Amino acid sequence: MPEELDFERWSKKAAEWGVAYRASLRGRPVRAQTAPGTIAAQLPALPPEQGEAMEAIFADFEKILLPGMTHWQHPRFFAYFPANAAPVSVVAEYLVTAMAAQCMLWQTSPAATELETRVLDWLRQAIGLPAGFAGVIQDSASSATLAAVLVMRERALSWKGNKAGLAANPRLRIYASQEVHTSIDRAIWVSGIGEENLVRIPTTGGHRGMDAVALADAITRDREAGHVPAGIIACAGGTNVGACDDISAVVRVARENGLYVHVDAAWAGSAMICEEFRHLWVGVEGADSVVFNPHKWLGAQFDCSAHFIRNPEDLVRTLAIHPEFLKTHGHDGLINYSEWSVPLGRRFRALKLWFLLRFHGLEGLRAMIRNHVAWSERLAERLKAEPDFEIVTEPVLSLFSFRHTATDDLDQHNLDLVGSINDDGRIYLTQSRVDGKVMIRFQAGQFEMTEADADTAFDVITELARNKA
Ligand SMILES: *Cc1c(COP(=O)(O)O)cnc(C)c1O
Repeated sequence: MPEELDFERWSKKAAEWGVAYRASLRGRPVRAQTAPGTIAAQLPALPPEQGEAMEAIFADFEKILLPGMTHWQHPRFFAYFPANAAPVSVVAEYLVTAMAAQCMLWQTSPAATELETRVLDWLRQAIGLPAGFAGVIQDSASSATLAAVLVMRERALSWKGNKAGLAANPRLRIYASQEVHTSIDRAIWVSGIGEENLVRIPTTGGHRGMDAVALADAITRDREAGHVPAGIIACAGGTNVGACDDISAVVRVARENGLYVHVDAAWAGSAMICEEFRHLWVGVEGADSVVFNPHKWLGAQFDCSAHFIRNPEDLVRTLAIHPEFLKTHGHDGLINYSEWSVPLGRRFRALKLWFLLRFHGLEGLRAMIRNHVAWSERLAERLKAEPDFEIVTEPVLSLFSFRHTATDDLDQHNLDLVGSINDDGRIYLTQSRVDGKVMIRFQAGQFEMTEADADTAFDVITELARNKA
């Protein structure tokens, strides 16, 4: 028998630690300030043969590991996209962790399945998708996109790909712009379709959306070459600069050609709970598959990707496996969500959404998103008004990019500037490139951010830029 843990004591300790940790965040540097290898050097190479005291383990957690954490829940986390874990979602996750149910089938936890169906339908209504879309929680947008690409593949191969493989078939073709997330590339690799068959469509206009005429032409050319067009992946709010395809136009081309459309709105989808932002994805109701991540902006902590599908039968036909031990005889018509995703096992992810949506209500979440958008727009205006700053891409929701232009070697100068900003620790930003040039990305989205945090961002950026120039 292993040593018995004082479960009550350590559970309370963990919860109290979490509360104190969250309260301490503003005083911590956002990005970890450790050099590579410093954490590993403090960890014994040999596994422990004898059990150790919890006091010692907990103390090492604080002493060795905590300094090596980047604080994603820090209110001045402006890098990448947020990965918000609202406090209420943390509480729900405690309960999920305690029960630790494996919710792969309806019968392995009916409440998990039935709650998932209900809260996903709440979310569907919240973002303005029409009735008829069915929802499932995937572990990540990457998984949702992979599932959608597998459906594209099976549809295009008359449902024979899983059995026969791709070898004897003509090339399948998938269409997307240059602005889509790298998870699309990986879905194309993993599905066996192959990167050479991901056709990049040039973008036009301020939103950097796919040129619909070029899209239609590419499909026609592929058909003439004997290839088999299978689907289109559109983005609403690309990762780099928030690019948005004209989804109405993409859907129109798809319908004319009998193609499946998947919309990746991993980040921007959360903002669609506000009606005034839905102009960014007009036409989405014509898509076959839509994913967005409540684990990014909305506050339902990782992992929680909401995947909406117009025809779940296609997904189940593509992904369901039926070994004898998974059969739930006599319960026909029940949903087994593991048939809707690549992994079999599933955590009880719907509970945190239920807690989050009930506690904050859509109005509370809308107010947060509207604030983030307004504060980001104001920061862009303030930077634009400063000497030697240029806005490289205007705000899309709460994301924009800028450069400091005080020197000749702008790329190196801006890389150095991001480095010194992140070493300073008060805020955290990431760099990227637009049209080959280095720029600095800013996104406002952390759950507990205030307007004063945006002001701090302005102060830090302008102060360190001047020091560097
Ligand atoms: C973050 C992001 C993804 C990847 O999301 P995961 O849930 O981490 O797989 C995909 N697409 C876009 C547009 C994103 O912003």
